[in-house]
Amino acid sequence: MGKPTGFKEFEREAAPYRDATLRIGDFHEIYTAHDTPRLITQGARCMDCGVPFCQSDDGCPIHNLIPEWNDLAYRGHWRDALDRLHKTNNFPEFTGRVCPAPCEGACVLGITSPAVTIKNIEMAIIDRGFEEGWVVPQPPAHRTGLKVAVVGSGPAGLSAAAQLNQAGHTVTVYEREDRIGGLLMYGIPNMKLDKRIVQRRLDLMQAEGVEFASNAHVTDGNNSALSVTQLRDEHDALLLTTGATVPRDLPIPGRELDGVHFAMDFLRANTRSLLDSNLEDGKYLCAKGKKVIVIGGGDTGADCIGTSLRHGCESLTNFELFPKPPSERAPNNPWPTWPIIFRVDYAHQESAAKYGSDPRVYGISTLEFQGDDNGRLRALKTIDVALEGGKIQPIEGTEQVWEVDLVFLSMGYLGPEHAVSEPLNLEYDERSNYKADYGKYQTSVEKVFAAGDCRRGQSLVVRAINEGREAAREIDRYLTGSTLLP
Ligand SMILES: Cc1cc2nc3c(=O)[nH]c(=O)nc-3n(C[C@H](O)[C@H](O)[C@H](O)COP(=O)(O)OP(=O)(O)OC[C@H]3O[C@@H](n4cnc5c(N)ncnc54)[C@H](O)[C@@H]3O)c2cc1C
Ligand code: SF4
Repeated sequence: MGKPTGFKEFEREAAPYRDATLRIGDFHEIYTAHDTPRLITQGARCMDCGVPFCQSDDGCPIHNLIPEWNDLAYRGHWRDALDRLHKTNNFPEFTGRVCPAPCEGACVLGITSPAVTIKNIEMAIIDRGFEEGWVVPQPPAHRTGLKVAVVGSGPAGLSAAAQLNQAGHTVTVYEREDRIGGLLMYGIPNMKLDKRIVQRRLDLMQAEGVEFASNAHVTDGNNSALSVTQLRDEHDALLLTTGATVPRDLPIPGRELDGVHFAMDFLRANTRSLLDSNLEDGKYLCAKGKKVIVIGGGDTGADCIGTSLRHGCESLTNFELFPKPPSERAPNNPWPTWPIIFRVDYAHQESAAKYGSDPRVYGISTLEFQGDDNGRLRALKTIDVALEGGKIQPIEGTEQVWEVDLVFLSMGYLGPEHAVSEPLNLEYDERSNYKADYGKYQTSVEKVFAAGDCRRGQSLVVRAINEGREAAREIDRYLTGSTLLP
């Protein structure tokens, strides 16, 4: 424990983002430079409590050794802090940027005072590690001669590949997109996670011996796709980490109108065009001068808001079906569970800075989209709703019509696509995910494992990393009879 009285002496002071009105003028990251004296003071607030709930199941899903590296950061032992961090997390530079930090919701200090700024410290440790040149390729000392194919290159596939490679297996990651990274590359936008940071880690993995195959669509082998059954036959194990990519639709009148889009179509095209041509090729949907309504919240909804603002949209509104969450934990949401409270994400902050108020409208449901004679979206009709007896009920007489040019549907994901699982005859769970027990990851088919969002449903980067690491451990055990992987 760095400073026994630190938590009494110092207030929580999270690292600020760049000025909201300025940052919407570019797609650079929203973060400011690390302020080492502040980080040290914040590290001193960690109480090194007897039972660190921050790293328990209620806190960090990968069980980062948080009090240990808080203490090391406080003492200025950054290299040791980095080594501790890498013990549990293959990609702290991703989680330090995009994780919602369930660890902070479970921080013991958080019972009485604002939690330790754990996520900021994590990001500072790994960024410093790269700056100092401490993060270098570490190829395995020996090769087993066993081959593993991983389908899907998001955080689950990448963490599994990194771990299996460390165990000496020969790993190839197959990805249907033109760039590797899953939602780290083509979901989460640049301002939250710069793609050079993703590429830096991919380059390291490649230098360690992991092979990447992009533009490699794995299905039944027809139409120039790769055959999943052939991949299984040619490898000693096959891991599916294909994500939960089927979006929830809104099948109401007017859904077919020009101007109604799935959020991911908007975000993916934007990032690709940004990386290919700095948005000069025009191969993206531009929100400039448009009235935008985002239906649904979460990270995806916030990213649609942030991206539309950067295009220069005329107005922005965000519909949420459920009522506004409370500002404090409700009695049925006690510490150390994840606090379900009103939060202001980076994009809400930006929208408020530009238009003067938070873009979110709560307790509202969309009834129909309305278009002009050319099939262009012009308006949508809503009704207010309330939660009654656990059900969403419309409130009579509250219909409204909103002018709109672009709608982004961000209402969550239904589960994985089945093009890769059908040829294997995989079993599914009741939510159409690939069936494989948590902790085991073995599917109903011999040699085939599944991890990440395709197994558990839409979740978080840190949970995908956790599943990838654990699946690697189980695959190693399956291949060799025992394992030293954590
Ligand atoms: C817009 C958006 C923003 C998000 N923001 C955050 C955030 O801020 N913080 C956070 O923690 N989480 C966030 N998430 C959630 C997080 O990104 C996911 O939970 C995580 O990426 C899941 O990892 P995964 O490896 O299971 O799958 P994914 O990252 O979805 O990767 C799956 C990959 O498999 C590929 N694939 C699928 N089928 C095939 C096939 N047949 N052949 C070859 N390749 C295939 C896909 O192209 C994809 O690249 C966000 C999600 C979205 C959509
Ligand atoms: S990965 Fe997420 S939960 Fe774990 S320490 Fe980092 S911010 Fe906290």
